[in-house]
Amino acid sequence: MFNRDVISAIATEMTALRQRIHQYPEAGFCETQTAALICDELEHLHIPYRTGYGKTGVVATIAGKNGGREILLRCDMDALHLDESNDLPYRSQNAGLMHACGHDGHVAIMLGVANYLSAHNDFNGKVHLLFQPAEERFGGARDVIADGLFDDFPRIDAVYGLHNWPGVELGTIAGREGALMACGGSWEMTITGSGGHGAMPHQTTDPTLAAGHIITAMQSIVSRNVSPVDSAVLSIAYMQAGEASVRNVIPATVTLAGTCRAYKNEVHTHVFERLKNVASQTAAAFGCEATTTVKFGYPAVVNATDKFAIASRAAIATVGDKFNGSIEPVTPSEDFAYYLQHVPGAFVFLGNGDSAALHTPAYDFNDHSIPTGIEYFLHVIALELGA
Ligand SMILES: [Zn+2]
Ligand SMILES: [Zn+2]
Repeated sequence: MFNRDVISAIATEMTALRQRIHQYPEAGFCETQTAALICDELEHLHIPYRTGYGKTGVVATIAGKNGGREILLRCDMDALHLDESNDLPYRSQNAGLMHACGHDGHVAIMLGVANYLSAHNDFNGKVHLLFQPAEERFGGARDVIADGLFDDFPRIDAVYGLHNWPGVELGTIAGREGALMACGGSWEMTITGSGGHGAMPHQTTDPTLAAGHIITAMQSIVSRNVSPVDSAVLSIAYMQAGEASVRNVIPATVTLAGTCRAYKNEVHTHVFERLKNVASQTAAAFGCEATTTVKFGYPAVVNATDKFAIASRAAIATVGDKFNGSIEPVTPSEDFAYYLQHVPGAFVFLGNGDSAALHTPAYDFNDHSIPTGIEYFLHVIALELGA
């Protein structure tokens, strides 16, 4: 359906561009050079765009031949604080920064789509291409939305994105309906009582004893409060009470902290609510008080059934039987999830072959996956907005 020679010629150009972006990685919300390069390319293609979404974000808009629906395709632009260990001709020139998550490749794929669409706009409606800042840690998607993405383009009713995935064979697209990537958050708990002399515990309300019971009781949250068909993780990563050199003082405070993961936002919320409750009620039983503060990270990436069906058809049209539509969910998080709270969509993984893992100094995006990524998005557009 799409001319693969044309896509392959575009992919060759985009490979050079990807390697240029790789040389000059920029941290979240600081992607000014990367954004300038994107805007240059869009101007060269005569594609209109708007800036100012999450500081450095760019939205390009390509109108089809006729009016119709509008969809959003999203990529991310930021790099990580890592020193690259690769000896590549295009290795990072910015000390302490590296494209270790392949967002350089995601930008190249999206600009490849822009290239193709600038000459072939035979669809109805509009396609918006979003170049998003600060996916790593800062949740730049939230800023893009706060800066008016869905107000400025209110007719967007579907969103698609992809991420390269090391360990998945090159030329493969993989994903699943429903939850694909986890939501996660952190928590911190302070248990306070009255401390005192270690020899006179009856004059204290020993918070270390309360902490022990809380640690045991919180194990019941995943086993008794989460449905057997759902899953969640609640872990303690930090615990502090008393002073290292003191042996005869019962401390007045115990601090615990940890993490939570789940594949449903409502499960995650429920686990945190139970944690607060179990802690405060258990502490009360021992005459202590427990206060728990929780911090939600990115929500879960949940692929909508109908949109994942479109993604599947697009993937099969692109890679045939190298599409795997029923992989296991993965535990990392992605801020693509924030768009899915506004409009339904689908997120898939693009095989990066046998490369080093994401977020490691030896990682590199596999340029051979660029044409696959471009063609996948073109099929999504054709299926969503086909003339
Ligand atoms: Zn990453
Ligand atoms: Zn990433």
